[in-house]
Amino acid sequence: MGRLVMKFGGTSVADIERIRNVARHVKREVDAGHEVAVVVSAMAGTTNRLVEWCREASPMHDAREYDAVVASGEQVTAGLLAIALQALGINARSWQGWQLPIKTSDVHGSARILDVNGEELVRRFRERKEVAVVAGFQGIHAETGRITTLGRGGSDTSAVAVAAAIQADRCDIYTDVDGVYTTDPRVVPRARRLDKISFEEMLEMASLGAKVMQVRSIELGMVHQVRMFVRSSFDKPEDIDPHSTPPGTLICDEAEIMEQQVVTGIAFSKDEAQISIRHVQDKPGVAASIFGPLAEANINVDMIVQVVSADGATTDLTFTVPAADYDRAKETIAKARERIGYGGLDSATDVAKISVIGIGMRSHAGVAASAFKALAERGINIRAITTSEIKFSLLIDAAFTELAVRTLHSLYGLDK
Ligand code: ADP
Ligand code: ASP
Ligand code: MG
Repeated sequence: MGRLVMKFGGTSVADIERIRNVARHVKREVDAGHEVAVVVSAMAGTTNRLVEWCREASPMHDAREYDAVVASGEQVTAGLLAIALQALGINARSWQGWQLPIKTSDVHGSARILDVNGEELVRRFRERKEVAVVAGFQGIHAETGRITTLGRGGSDTSAVAVAAAIQADRCDIYTDVDGVYTTDPRVVPRARRLDKISFEEMLEMASLGAKVMQVRSIELGMVHQVRMFVRSSFDKPEDIDPHSTPPGTLICDEAEIMEQQVVTGIAFSKDEAQISIRHVQDKPGVAASIFGPLAEANINVDMIVQVVSADGATTDLTFTVPAADYDRAKETIAKARERIGYGGLDSATDVAKISVIGIGMRSHAGVAASAFKALAERGINIRAITTSEIKFSLLIDAAFTELAVRTLHSLYGLDK
């Protein structure tokens, strides 16, 4: 007998029929003798609609009320799944974030989980064989008693936090793909499913655009050593043997992965914008005069490139910011114009960041160089580059995103 967390994302609970399907997945594990806590997302499309309603009501709304609205999606699914489980003869009870409680910080809209009380769930496993159905994405700020939410995709993080709290043997992430692929399988049909991926690589993949798991959930899993298994909810529940390993991807420690490829995966993101400041005086303190005000405005700068300007006397500075902060970043730079002293400002939002990830890069040289060559052969211009120990990222025109991802996917031998 083991203890499991089963997390189901939005498409897996999109309508009542799918919720019934989820209930059968849960029944299978309960019948096999496992203690189960289920974590659910809102039904597909619900959170988007709730977010849109807040915007419609007022573009500048109170973040505490935004949370009160958007947390409701998960409340509905938790109740519906408990009903569906009871209809199958399974003892089940729903739990909202405030009921457990799942305590969080007070950063409304992207709160961090501070503590999860799993005691009551464990007691009920033992005494009543009761399945817990926990609403994902939401928690409570203890001091103010207000409902909080964890940021988009946050149910993954709820699931991992619950798994850590009840010391689950495994945290199964059921979604609309049967695992983590070498790149988004919806964009590259030749993407391959990975049997295993290390926490570090998954963290990079998620941070760099692979939306299959929320970034924070991987950090939490790494800290608490939660075994996460990404699998499909669309397989017929009754066809799965609960004692065998179904298709899926285990996110685990690097040491558990025997055959390490140089490149594990490719991620991409169109959520960035580029700003170039032309003809900046080439003297000490200039970078501080640019990036200081941006930091004060809470704008995250990602890639930075500095090159000598065409006139040979000044320098051009190019950097990227999240697309959502683009307008604010441009205003901030314009305000600091006198302090910085620059000739002009260019910017672009139709850019994409392509990232190549692999722990094997630590011990292999020339991995990035071959990418530059392959992209050049296809006429794709690289606007900016950043590298770190296990990844490098390239900024290109958004129109070439798919071509670039497919090219690199083949180049590194990742195609099926
Ligand atoms: P859920 O609603 O279950 O949380 P998400 O939509 O958040 O599901 O995540 C699953 C989606 O992530 C997939 O449909 C897929 O298109 C996308 N995705 C992006 N990159 C990858 C990847 N490398 N491997 C698998 N799926 C990926
Ligand atoms: N329902 C929330 C969202 O759509 C959380 C989640 O699904 O993980 O972002
Ligand atoms: Mg998700």
